[in-house]
Amino acid sequence: MKSRFAPSPTGYLHIGGARTALFAWAYAKKCGGKFVLRIEDTDRERSTQASVDAILEGMSWLGLDYDEGPFYQTQRFERYREITQQLLDEGKAYYCQCSKQRLDDLRKSLMAKGEKAMYDGCCRSKNLSNGVVRFKNPAAGSVVFIDSVKGKISINNKEIDDLIIARTDGTPTYNLTVVVDDYDMQISHVIRGDDHINNTPRQINLYQALNWKMPEFAHLPMILGSDGARMSKRHGAMSVMAYRDEGFLPEALINYLSRLGWSHGDKELFSMAEIAELFDFSAVNKAPAIFNKVKLLWLNQEYIKNATPEHLHQHLQWHLDKSGLDVSTGAEPVLVIKILQERSKTLVEMVEGMKMFYQDFADFDKKLADKQFENKEPLELLLAKLSILKDWQAETIKACIKEVCADLDIGFGKVGQPFRLALSGDGNAANIDIVAELVGKETTLKRLQKAIKYEC
Ligand code: GLU
Repeated sequence: MKSRFAPSPTGYLHIGGARTALFAWAYAKKCGGKFVLRIEDTDRERSTQASVDAILEGMSWLGLDYDEGPFYQTQRFERYREITQQLLDEGKAYYCQCSKQRLDDLRKSLMAKGEKAMYDGCCRSKNLSNGVVRFKNPAAGSVVFIDSVKGKISINNKEIDDLIIARTDGTPTYNLTVVVDDYDMQISHVIRGDDHINNTPRQINLYQALNWKMPEFAHLPMILGSDGARMSKRHGAMSVMAYRDEGFLPEALINYLSRLGWSHGDKELFSMAEIAELFDFSAVNKAPAIFNKVKLLWLNQEYIKNATPEHLHQHLQWHLDKSGLDVSTGAEPVLVIKILQERSKTLVEMVEGMKMFYQDFADFDKKLADKQFENKEPLELLLAKLSILKDWQAETIKACIKEVCADLDIGFGKVGQPFRLALSGDGNAANIDIVAELVGKETTLKRLQKAIKYEC
């Protein structure tokens, strides 16, 4: 068993492409087969190296490892030429010199009659020796195949015209290259988006003309936005790497992608290994999938909560570098990460939360400070107690807070809240005693002093 992912390098690796790659990858893993990456770069005007790099980066970030490739179609032009020539020699293809004008007129007149715009085979028996090369599609009968997702599909050959397989300059077109490659690379399962389903009967006719064994086909449902329109930027970022930039973990995105069109009972959380084990086409929907960013965020939060701080640290590094936050002096990052895990939906949020541990903030949130720093007494007493505290630990810090509460006969919140604001600047800090321990004695005292000086 062998599947492949065959992107055209004309942009970034987008969400739909990644979902296709994941399903092809998962099915190969499940079957103990191989997964191939093929870059379909024959469109030289639209293909770029930057896009190839972006696709490779996206695959690698997602952990979609391939067993073979990347193969590049531009390196296989000789082979496509050979097959085109073979089809010409066997009378299964022919040269066509119909002008653009003629084809336009033909299309218009067919459409005016309410008929499907199709090439009429005008050059079929002219025996021309140059021009574009067209494949002689069978005129009668129909193409029938069982799609692993969509079921039985039957198309009458009368609906299919003679496809161009090579342009005037000899360069091959998609439907030819894909068939030659899938055959040469021994692809047993062609798994792709259902935007290609109309190409499949044409490709099947090519397989038959070449006497090649056909692969199985599985066409995956489209991905729509929450409003039912085809997914676009309006519904969320399209590029896989934009999700890294927004602070998603690759395993959360993979989990989310796996559920775009596939399910396994009502299970929601899937590791990559589980996807590889449980994936099956019988549980892939025929109907389109709906992209839901809220659910993706929920998953990301789950993965952040349950990951080891060390793992998060690895993925955070990119964000730390980008934000310029220097964590080399101060608290051990994994200890800070540990207390932020419960409250961060994304790694970007986590970096925000880390800032107070490693750098000073300019000002307190005015609205909060005016309220919470009105009575300076709890802060002054706390400062006095913490200044002489020798053993700087969450427990001893907490004991000091409690002493202040007892001395002034006030509740924990009356000390804890202003202390939290004093430390964080914006009031966003979990377990204040642990935070104070990690922020360190010197900085804690400095921030308390700053809070005491605050003029309401
Ligand atoms: N290169 C095609 C695309 O990016 C994929 C073709 C296929 O999977 O057969 O849409």
